Amino acid sequence: MRRIGLLGGMSWHSSIEYYTKINDAVAKQLGGHHSAQILLDSCDFADIRELQEANDWAGNDASLVATAQRLVDGGAEAVAIATNLMHKCAPAIEVSVDAPLIHMVDSIATMAKRQGYSTLAVLGTRWTMLEDFYTGRLEAQGIKTLVPDEATCLEVDQIIWDELTQGVFTDNSRARYVEIMNDLKDRGADAVALSCTEIGLLVPRRPLPYPRSTPSTRTSLRSWSG
Ligand code: GLU
Repeated sequence: MRRIGLLGGMSWHSSIEYYTKINDAVAKQLGGHHSAQILLDSCDFADIRELQEANDWAGNDASLVATAQRLVDGGAEAVAIATNLMHKCAPAIEVSVDAPLIHMVDSIATMAKRQGYSTLAVLGTRWTMLEDFYTGRLEAQGIKTLVPDEATCLEVDQIIWDELTQGVFTDNSRARYVEIMNDLKDRGADAVALSCTEIGLLVPRRPLPYPRSTPSTRTSLRSWSG
C-alpha cells in the first residue's frame, strides 16, 4: 500500500468523508484490520476562503503547493486534494510538487464511462460550474457536462458558503438542490456529479432524482437503488 497525502480542511466537514471512504475502500479490498495509510493536512479554511473571496488564485496556488510539498516531505507518495473547487490549483501542484496528484476529475470521468454515463450534471461552487478547469477536463475525456443557468449557479454557490461549508444542512436547501437536479435531468443529464463534497452531506442517497457521482479520491457513481 502506498501512503497518500490529503489536502484537507476545505471544509473540515467534508474531510471526514474522504478519510472514511478511503479507509472503507482499503478495508473492503484488504479485509481484516487493514486501513489506509493517510497523511492529512487540515488547513484553517478561513485563510483559504479569504483568498477565494479576494479572487487571489495565485495566493491559493502558493498555499496548496506548500501544503502538498509538506505532505510529500512527510512521506506521502501521492497527493489528493479533498475538495472539488480547489482543483483550480491542481496545475500548480502538478508542476511544482514531486509526487503524482490523483486528480478527482479524472476519477469521475473513469467512473462515469465505466457506468455508461455520457452526460453529467455538475453541481458545485460557482467556479467549479462556470469556469473551465473542472467541466473542461471532463469534456476533454469525452464526458458532456450540464450546469444550471448562471443565476441558479450563484444560488447553489451561496448555499454552499452560507450553509454547507459551515456545517448547516437544512430541509429547504435539500429540497431546492433536488429541484435543481431534476431540472438538469430533464435537460438530459444521466447522472449528477456532486462536485462540492458537502452537497453529498446535504442530499442523502434515496431521494435523489437520478444516479449521482460523489467525487472523492474513491469516486462512486450510485445507481437508483444504491
Ligand atoms: N468543499 C467544496 C468542494 O468540494 C468547496 C469548498 C472549497 O473547497 O473551497 O468544492
